[in-house]
Amino acid sequence: MRFDELTAAYERLEATSKRLEMRAILVELVRPLRPPDLGRVLFLSQGMLRPEYEGIELGVADSLARRAVAAATGSDEAEVARRTKSSGDLGTTTAALLENVRRLETEGPLTVAEVYRELTRVAEAKGPGSQEAKVQILTGLLVRAAPVEGKFLVRFVLGTLRVGVREMTILDALAEAFGDGSKAARAAVESAFNLSSDLGYVAGVLVEQGVPGLASITLEIGRPVRPMLAEREPTLEAALARMGGTAALEYKYDGLRVQAHIPKHGPVRLFSRRLEEIGPQFPELVSELPNAVRERPAILEGECVPIDLTTGEILPFQEVSRRRGRKHDLARVQEEVPVCLFAFDLLLEDGRPVYDLPFPERRALLARLLLSTDRVRLAEQRIVEDLSSATQFFEQAVEAGGEGVMVKSLKEGSSYRAGARGYWWIKYKREYTVGLSDSIDGVIVGAFQGRGRRAGHYGAYLLAVYDPARDRFESFCKVGTGFDDAMLAELPKRLARFESPERPPGIETGLTPDRWMRPGLVLEVRGAELTLSPIHRAAQGAIRSETGLALRFPRFTGRIRDDKGPTEATTSPELLTLYRAQVRQAPKPVGGERPGTAGPE
Ligand code: ATP
Repeated sequence: MRFDELTAAYERLEATSKRLEMRAILVELVRPLRPPDLGRVLFLSQGMLRPEYEGIELGVADSLARRAVAAATGSDEAEVARRTKSSGDLGTTTAALLENVRRLETEGPLTVAEVYRELTRVAEAKGPGSQEAKVQILTGLLVRAAPVEGKFLVRFVLGTLRVGVREMTILDALAEAFGDGSKAARAAVESAFNLSSDLGYVAGVLVEQGVPGLASITLEIGRPVRPMLAEREPTLEAALARMGGTAALEYKYDGLRVQAHIPKHGPVRLFSRRLEEIGPQFPELVSELPNAVRERPAILEGECVPIDLTTGEILPFQEVSRRRGRKHDLARVQEEVPVCLFAFDLLLEDGRPVYDLPFPERRALLARLLLSTDRVRLAEQRIVEDLSSATQFFEQAVEAGGEGVMVKSLKEGSSYRAGARGYWWIKYKREYTVGLSDSIDGVIVGAFQGRGRRAGHYGAYLLAVYDPARDRFESFCKVGTGFDDAMLAELPKRLARFESPERPPGIETGLTPDRWMRPGLVLEVRGAELTLSPIHRAAQGAIRSETGLALRFPRFTGRIRDDKGPTEATTSPELLTLYRAQVRQAPKPVGGERPGTAGPE
C-alpha cells in the first residue's frame, strides 16, 4: 500500500468525531489489505509499531524531530521552532515547509512497508550515535514525503497522531471488513484480542482463517492477557444476592496487579494491569516465582503488595508506588520496600490453558500449584453462604490491611473473562461502609490556569470518564483540591506530551479549559456525591435529557493511576451505577428519582 493512501484516510478520520463515520472509513481502508500491510496499518493508525505490551518507544524528542524537518526542508532549525510556536504543531509546520520544496522522486512514492521499516529502525537505534541515526532516518523519509505525509510522519514520531482511532473502533471495523459485521463476529474478534492483546495478529488470523479461525487463538507465554475486571455493589448483601447467596470472598489487596508469565526455561515476565512489562521493578519476584510453582509453564495473576517481612503484615500501598519507574537503587529499594505477590487466579497450568474452567476449579489448581514462600502466597479466601460470615470475613480483610473484599462467583460460567468487567467479580470496599463514595479514576482532558499562589501553574484539571459504547471521554468534574506543591510542579511536565492546541476529538464537555489535553493521564479522585449537571457530560441523558453527572467537591487522592490507560479509567456506565447506588442509599431522593427504582442493569 502507498503511504499517501493511508494519510488520505487519516485526513478523513481527523475531520470527523463520529464513531460510525470513523468505522466506515476504517472498513474501506483495511478491507483490501492483507498481512503484513494490514497489521502495519492497524498499528500505525494507533500511533504504535507493535502491540502496546511490547513497550516499543521511538525515543524521538521535539528537538530531534525539528532537526530532521530542518534538514529535509533546507530550513533553519530556529525558523522551524518559531513557526511551530505559532502553529502549535510541528506536523502542520512540516506540511507548510514541504509545500515549498521539491521532493526527492527518484525512489518513487513512499509505501507503508518502507515507512514501517524505517520507523522500526528509528525505534531500534540505541546507544552512542543513535540520536544522529534517528535524525538521518527521519530526514530520509521526509525528503520523499508529500506535505500531508510529512505532517503525519512527524506527528507519529512525536506521539501526537490525532486521528482518534481507538481499539474498540478498530475491532468494529475488523468484524465488518472481514466477518459479516454481526454481533457474534464482533464478539469473536474482541475475545481473540482480549486473549492475545495483539491486534495485528488477530487481524492476520481473521483474514486468513475467517471468524471461526479466531477460536484457535489462545494463551502464550510472554503475550499478556487483558485483565478480567470487577463490578461494584453498594452492600455486601447485594453482592451476595447477585451471586445467588453463595460466593468465594477474597481479601481485596491494595497494591499493583501483576500477571506473571513463568516459562519452562528462561526469565519470568511480569505485566501490569495495562500490560506494561514491570519485571525490572520487581526482580525479587522474577527470581522467586519459578521456585514458587510446582509446574511450568504457568500464567498466574495476583496483587503485589508491600509487606513487613518480619511480621508478614501488609503495608500501605504508597510504599510500593515508590518503586514505580525506579531503575537505579533497586537493591536498596528491594530491602526498604519488600513486596509479596498474593496470587488470586490461574490462566495457564503446566502449559495447559485453564482460563475457561469455572473459578472453583482454577482456584483449586492454583492452590495445588503454589508453594507458598515469603514473597509469593495464595490470596486469603473463604466460601460464604450467609451474610454474617461474609461480614465477618470482610472485617477480617480490613483488619489485615485490605481495601475490602472481592466477591467471586462459583457458578458454572465463572470462567476467566479476559478484558471484561462483569458481575462474576464484585468489589466491595471499606469506603462504602463509611458513607463515602468509591474513588473515581478520571482522565485529564484539560487544565485551567491557577490564580494567587498558583499563578503561572495549572490550578485545576478537567477530568472525564470514558464511554466505551460511544468511544468518547465525558467530563464529570474540575478538580483543584488535593494537590501538594510537588505534584503541582510535576503534573505539567507529565502532561506536556498530551497538550493540544484545539479540542481533541472524542471529548464531551460544557467547559472550555485554558489548555486542552489529549486523554493520557489518569488521576484518582473522591468527592462528596454525584449530582446532575447541565455542564458535565458523563452519562448524559441517562437520567435526564441534556443532563450529565458531576462529582461535587472533588479532591485528588494523591494517586496517579499510571497502571491505567485512558480507556481503562472509570466508565460512564460505572459512574451511573455509583450515582444510582447513592440514590438508593440516600434518605431523600435526589434529582427527582425515587429510591429503589434504579439498580445496576
Ligand atoms: P480499583 O480502582 O477499585 O482498585 P480497578 O478499577 O483497578 O479497581 P477493578 O476490577 O475495579 O480494578 O478491581 C479489581 C482490582 O482489585 C484488580 O484489578 C486487582 O488489582 C485488585 N485485587 C486485589 N485483590 C484481589 C483479589 N483477591 N482478586 C482479584 N483482584 C484483586
